[in-house]
Amino acid sequence: FDEVVGFDTELAEAIQKEIGRQEDHIELIASENFVSKAVMAAMGSPLTNKYAEGYPGKRYYGGCEFVDIAENLAIQRAKELFGCTYANVQSHSGAQANMAVFFALIKPGDTVMGMNLAHGGHLTHGSPVNMSGSYFNIVPYGVNDEGFIDYEELEKIALSVKPKLIVAGASAYARKIDFKRFREIADAAGAYLMVDMAHIAGLVAAGYHESPIPYAHVTTTTTHKTLRGPRGGMILSSAEFAEEHKLNKAVFPGIQGGPLMHVIAAKAVCFKEALDPSFKVYAGNIIENAQALSKGLTERGFQIVSGGTDNHLMLVDLQNKGVTGKEAEKLLDAANITCNKNTIPNDPASPFVTSGIRLGTPAVTTRGMKAPDMDVIAEAISLLIADVDKNKAEAMELVRSLTEKYPLYK
Ligand code: PLP
Repeated sequence: FDEVVGFDTELAEAIQKEIGRQEDHIELIASENFVSKAVMAAMGSPLTNKYAEGYPGKRYYGGCEFVDIAENLAIQRAKELFGCTYANVQSHSGAQANMAVFFALIKPGDTVMGMNLAHGGHLTHGSPVNMSGSYFNIVPYGVNDEGFIDYEELEKIALSVKPKLIVAGASAYARKIDFKRFREIADAAGAYLMVDMAHIAGLVAAGYHESPIPYAHVTTTTTHKTLRGPRGGMILSSAEFAEEHKLNKAVFPGIQGGPLMHVIAAKAVCFKEALDPSFKVYAGNIIENAQALSKGLTERGFQIVSGGTDNHLMLVDLQNKGVTGKEAEKLLDAANITCNKNTIPNDPASPFVTSGIRLGTPAVTTRGMKAPDMDVIAEAISLLIADVDKNKAEAMELVRSLTEKYPLYK
């Protein structure tokens, strides 16, 4: 970073301000985390200089003997971490991992079932504005009135539309996902099952959420959410899915060119960290903190979709508080609490306004915060939503007490 300061003051200022923002804000965006300095160092290494199209041992460029070591380490560790027989660590992002699986398994026009975006699904699971929704015939499924995945409805739809692919996984779903049930439905409908475990990958790695590997034909993930690695994607499968070459070909040369070897090296570091027993403690604390935050908010009159959480996030239904998700996001930001507005199931408001916010605990847990600190956050949120003008200073003081107690990157 010193070199950036010396060379490019405009950019250095932006980076410095972002470092300051991360330091003095409480980060509740469920998909974000803070990587270790070792992960960051690998990302900032000269491995970024290397072209390595192809796969270890079969490259289209010379001089790949050392980046091959890095990629092989990432692959071996991913397999060990998730108990699978195949790992492709080259996807630049979660969206690209998903696109590669679509490209490998199905043809444009095929029917795909994915979780409704408005019910917690992801853009890449069939939104009309995404490649998935433009090239495939998407039939969505969703949650019931209590906020749980409606497996009976899912089964009924699957047996009627006979999709080629069912996608399980979500971006805003607070409950455990029954992968066995998904697979039974996929088998009955004659479909492939793809699980996108991006949000919960860290919880799966630590054993706090059932693994999709025994059930899914193919599993995709990001590496930067609960898994706490560099921004990127990955594709996994078990021996049952014996067409791994199809997946490799779909990533390269299918939808990508040269892999980002510095990011792949950082993925290797992340997986080593996640294999350490300390990661299990971290993942357990994420869930404890989410449940404590959910309890603290419930005690202050907030409604949590589905009544609580089994994982790292919760959806807060703000309709009884008389504010929209968009307004709440701004109110919280006024006292340095960062979150995102989010649609709730059957939301009467538009996706740009929404009636809810999504809150997650992976980042605050990385800072070392524990369950009692979640009650302080719940109090600050409650103060801001109730009357920001009157309570902003008090809420800010609560936020400062936590950010000073738990410094980042010290
Ligand atoms: N899949 C799920 C379930 C996600 O929540 C996300 C991102 O939020 C993605 C895929 C996409 O990941 P990326 O932003 O790396 O493309």
